[in-house]
Amino acid sequence: MTPSPTVTVLAGPTAVGKGTVSTYVRDHYPQVWLSVSATTRAPRPGEVEGVHYYFVSDDEFDAMIERHDLLEWAVVHNLHRYGTPRHTVDEALAAGRSVLLEIDLQGARSIRQTLPDARFVFLAPPSWEEMVQRLVGRGTETPEQQQRRLETAKLELAARSEFDHTVVNDTVERAAAELVALMGLPDEQGR
Ligand code: 5GP
Repeated sequence: MTPSPTVTVLAGPTAVGKGTVSTYVRDHYPQVWLSVSATTRAPRPGEVEGVHYYFVSDDEFDAMIERHDLLEWAVVHNLHRYGTPRHTVDEALAAGRSVLLEIDLQGARSIRQTLPDARFVFLAPPSWEEMVQRLVGRGTETPEQQQRRLETAKLELAARSEFDHTVVNDTVERAAAELVALMGLPDEQGR
């Protein structure tokens, strides 16, 4: 029997690899639809409009809020706004696909209020040291931005207990398989 589609929220500290795990799930599990957020931040090299994010201006983001287009939104790292477009989530569910939201902790808390039946999964690093290394190693942020993200990460690690499940991101394949199982879906081989 095909399980009914669900919404699953994947959150966790900065640089834990949420993006890598969720992209892996998107690319290997066609039953899952990975939500594409709107953001006011500028694209990083290689990021594609409509694939990684919808890159919008502050005015456009304001208009989305006013029209109630967003299921949730938050200011992340005290810097830019990010939000989940409501209609694409509704469309995916209506098409029978399970939805994965890769969002921050504030967004997860909002979804807890608006969609209490959603599943909440916390992605944890194997260790704090490894997480710091990943953040510094990816070299996409200035030292000041890295510091701000690490401060957020400390608060986010403490929020683990608010989640239904914790998945440790030791390897992307294993973490993705565990996440998909928690979404109630069969594994890659369709078993
Ligand atoms: P980045 O700028 O590195 O792509 O993302 C920064 C943070 O924003 C990540 O922690 C990511 O989970 C979060 N984020 C991305 N999209 C959304 C969204 O739609 N809503 C919320 N609340 N957070 C988001």
